[in-house]
Amino acid sequence: ANALVWLRRDLRLHDNPALAQAIADGYAPVLVYVHAPEEEGAWAPGAASLAWLHFSLLSLHRDIEARGGRLVIARGASLAELERLQRETRAEALYFGNVYEPLLQARDARVQQAFERSGIAVKRFNASLLVEPWQVQTGSGTPYKVFTPFWRNASAAFSLRAEYPAPSRLPSVEAVGLGIEQLGLLPAIAWHAGFWSHWRPGEEGARELLEAFCEGAVEGYKEQRNLPDRTGTSKLSPHLHFGEISPQQIWRRTATLRLSETGQADLAHFRSELGWREFSYHLIHHFPDSTDHNLNPQFDRFDWAEPDAESLARWQRGRTGIPIVDAGMRELWHTGWMHNRVRMIVASFLCKNLRHHWLHGARWFWDTLLDADLANNSQGWQWTAGTGCDAAPYFRIFNPVSQSEKFDPQARYIKRWVPELQQLPTPLVFAPWQRPELLRHSAPEYPVAPMVDLGESRAAALAAYSRR
Ligand code: FAD
Repeated sequence: ANALVWLRRDLRLHDNPALAQAIADGYAPVLVYVHAPEEEGAWAPGAASLAWLHFSLLSLHRDIEARGGRLVIARGASLAELERLQRETRAEALYFGNVYEPLLQARDARVQQAFERSGIAVKRFNASLLVEPWQVQTGSGTPYKVFTPFWRNASAAFSLRAEYPAPSRLPSVEAVGLGIEQLGLLPAIAWHAGFWSHWRPGEEGARELLEAFCEGAVEGYKEQRNLPDRTGTSKLSPHLHFGEISPQQIWRRTATLRLSETGQADLAHFRSELGWREFSYHLIHHFPDSTDHNLNPQFDRFDWAEPDAESLARWQRGRTGIPIVDAGMRELWHTGWMHNRVRMIVASFLCKNLRHHWLHGARWFWDTLLDADLANNSQGWQWTAGTGCDAAPYFRIFNPVSQSEKFDPQARYIKRWVPELQQLPTPLVFAPWQRPELLRHSAPEYPVAPMVDLGESRAAALAAYSRR
């Protein structure tokens, strides 16, 4: 008998609990992907994410074909398409891994109800997290709002299990599906063409990155993770978002490393970053409004400055005149990714120096990040804006100049992404407006002054904060 295995954020064959259990239960698995962006409402996947999805599905399709099977692709309302495929394949059960975006959780509940009403068994799994968001709570039975106790509890609550094996053979399927191209996931203008020299979507690409990270960057992670000019982090974020690799796989692989004592601390730090991902999912589950509303309601009265199109465009395109901010925004545009340290710097600049609501930034990231992830992006922005749970306090305003001096001391990162500044002596690259005549001469295309004065805008932000 057949069972539908509905793949969503678990686009992998290894360590896939839904797939493995369907097989263990004696079913022939029919692997299905239904493209239904409308069901994600205002947070339907952005352009960069869709482009990744295109290549991720291609990779999955190839992996399935190599095992004799086929990925059945559908486009439309999830429930209707699943019901159609159930009828066509006479599937007796539906298996899937959980997702946590508020609208998708509600959609999944409707699908489950409808199937169960028709007598089709539904089995759901934790395919993407170490702990389900509802699995841990504070002593008083409420959701966590502070990271450290959350992680203390969550990292103790989950158990490392054996890897679910990938099937060596998959049955071929007679069901009507579309070709991946027919989903039209790639943008008409191939602005993403440059991305793919940096990335390899799919399970194998994820495994390669994990291996490279284990061999090269676990030792030293704590220090190196803050330096944007090198590969000091895993760059697994888009793979994790689409579930091409599971956090359990990462945990298991890193547990086999032989590390020095400081290396152990590095690994614990890396794992706590996976913990921040878990925390984001905990928050989005328990506070579903936090994708659009301040977690801290005190900020509902905050005097945000409404951005004009030009000010937003200068930030988006990396033309603010503040080199570290411009470098980050251009790295994002050219590679679909931005280093975490720089994400915090550009976000602080937008929400504090420009005093624009964090949603303006979250929306731009949403469209341009390959790893755009509703839980991580909402919490990342709320954290930096100071409106979130356990967030950086609003009055802690990053100084982009000292941040770049500290974390990009040779200005290599800045010079890579803002090549106009390559001729300037290094210390000046951090704040080139200090020598306008030199800047005008050696980098005539670069803004001669920052779009806002850092000191004045900082003072204005603090004043707005105290009026709140
Ligand atoms: P590593 O350092 O190798 O960490 C391993 C994994 O842990 C990451 O792949 C990621 O899944 C998780 N992780 C690491 N840091 C964080 C964090 N601070 N919060 C939550 N999870 C984390 N991450 C996204 O995946 N998608 C987003 O849309 C996103 N938007 C962000 C927006 C802002 C304003 C900020 C400040 C951060 C955002 N982050 C987001 C978190 C973080 O910047 C990225 O996860 C990280 O840079 C990815 O690089 P990496 O895989 O090399 O990380």
